[in-house]
Amino acid sequence: MPSYVLTEKCDGCKGQDKTACQYICPNDLMVLNRDIMKAHNQETDQCWECYNCVKICPQQAIEIRGYQDFCPLGANVIPMRSTDSIMWTIKFRSGIIKRFKFPIRTTVEGSIDLYGGKPEPDFAKLKSSGFFNYEARK
Ligand code: SF4
Ligand code: SF4
Repeated sequence: MPSYVLTEKCDGCKGQDKTACQYICPNDLMVLNRDIMKAHNQETDQCWECYNCVKICPQQAIEIRGYQDFCPLGANVIPMRSTDSIMWTIKFRSGIIKRFKFPIRTTVEGSIDLYGGKPEPDFAKLKSSGFFNYEARK
């Protein structure tokens, strides 16, 4: 089910140009009402429940209710990411709370050298026929 903002927790990211939830939403759904400094999901039927806004909100002011395929219908699902794991908190409507923690990576954060062992780029090759976009961008 779409994300929604707990207005008592939202502080409008303290009035910055762009709030964290606006920055992260891949669908540009989050808007900030500057009169009351509260954000909301402006078009809930377009929300694909990616949880990005939930994870990034510094106030933990955004929640999503999960579907019945992975939690009891109507339960709140709250992810909390750390550098090596994610903790999912499931709040049942009855008040029961369950937490599940899973590792999210097999290497230490920041330890991967993406270009390690690769040759330096040869920019002269950009004009070769193998890079077909080159001609289109000229
Ligand atoms: S990221 Fe959280 S605190 Fe910031 S505007 Fe969005 S809902 Fe409010
Ligand atoms: S759950 Fe994803 S698509 Fe929905 S409002 Fe949040 S960031 Fe946007």
